[in-house]
Amino acid sequence: MANPMADEQRRFKGSDEKNPFEAMSERFDRAAQLLGLEPDLYAVMRVPSREIKVYIPVKMDSGHIEVFEGFRVQHNFARGPAKGGIRYAPDVTLDEVKALSAWMTWKCAVVNVPFGGGKGGIICDPRQMSLGELERLTRRYTAELIDFIGPDRDVPAPDMNTNEQTMAWIMDTYSMHARHTVTAVVTGKPVALGGSLGRREATGRGVLFTVNEAIKRFNLTPEQTSVVVQGSGNVGGIGASLMYDQGYKVIAISDIHGAIYNSKGLNIPEVLEYLDRTKSLEGYADADHLANDELLEIECDVLAPCATENQITSHNASKIKCKILAEGANGPTTPAADKILFKNGVFVIPDILANAGGVTVSYFEWVQDRMGYFWREDEVNQRLEEKMVASFNELSQLAELHKVDTRTAAYMLAIDRVAYDTRMRGIYA
Ligand code: GLU
Repeated sequence: MANPMADEQRRFKGSDEKNPFEAMSERFDRAAQLLGLEPDLYAVMRVPSREIKVYIPVKMDSGHIEVFEGFRVQHNFARGPAKGGIRYAPDVTLDEVKALSAWMTWKCAVVNVPFGGGKGGIICDPRQMSLGELERLTRRYTAELIDFIGPDRDVPAPDMNTNEQTMAWIMDTYSMHARHTVTAVVTGKPVALGGSLGRREATGRGVLFTVNEAIKRFNLTPEQTSVVVQGSGNVGGIGASLMYDQGYKVIAISDIHGAIYNSKGLNIPEVLEYLDRTKSLEGYADADHLANDELLEIECDVLAPCATENQITSHNASKIKCKILAEGANGPTTPAADKILFKNGVFVIPDILANAGGVTVSYFEWVQDRMGYFWREDEVNQRLEEKMVASFNELSQLAELHKVDTRTAAYMLAIDRVAYDTRMRGIYA
């Protein structure tokens, strides 16, 4: 008889370095082995709970109907409702969404918030679509998922190319079907509609808080620390700007077209204002212009990849010249690159900790929605800092105790928490 586990394992072996689900699985396997995870728990935890695929008809502005393909993967519910963003992009794949959903499970467990993991994606090119088309796409996708999402089931949030407006449409569509307003069905909403103060900046702020902890290990102050940021969106742009405000010397930043570099430090508010106005970093004066892959190889204290997956691979890992790698993006480093970075003594703040600020404040938003009582921004930021610092310390201690790299320690911390809860609940098999 066919053994599905063996088939799965065969599929993972010797495969493409850039498949994010395989990258996730490789790290999961290593941490599970080090923890001595029981075979039954291993079998349950390494696969998603549910993969939903929907075909979404949308009336385009021209009057014709186009059908889009969308996904929602609910990876794990052991610790609470599934939680995670929805991304709109032409190259989204189910394997990518699966990996991202698993990363959400581990991320929520690392910062100890009571959620499982989920992720959604729609294959579309949002830059080629009107606001009306995006609204109809979002509403119909939500309608297709109506039985699967909800404050106690699965709580979506923004991710690449989705934002507060997208969340407001999801909240409204869900509420129309429920016949009453249900703000807690999504997070990352506009503040006036039940969003949380500080949510928009939370992922970048979380990167800052973990970098603040990491530089202490190198006896650096922010003023002595040079930073290179890949990406200038919600994570990279806001992260760079918050680091600039704290006195860090941000020497390079990029957008999707290219990068700018000034060894004396960039004026980040000015750069972001320029980017906002011209929609590109091209032509920005007062800096050298580089290609995106050159940016990653700049000598610096902190390199923060805050764009997308698979940026640091076996091809360029040996050329990375930073002391600290702060992974603002999900999955920017492949497992093959991990080994090279570890050998070269790079201190990695793994993605499932470095970018967990977003989901942490999403948790605060969900709590506030359910209480119907909203916190001041300084309260949100302070609670975020407490969580990020505590998780950073737990992870560092675990890495030292088990003499493993920080990424393995992060997976061990997360898997151990999910395993404990699964064991206590028992497997309904
Ligand atoms: N999309 C963000 C992430 O990857 C936030 C998810 C959330 O807040 O649920 O962590």
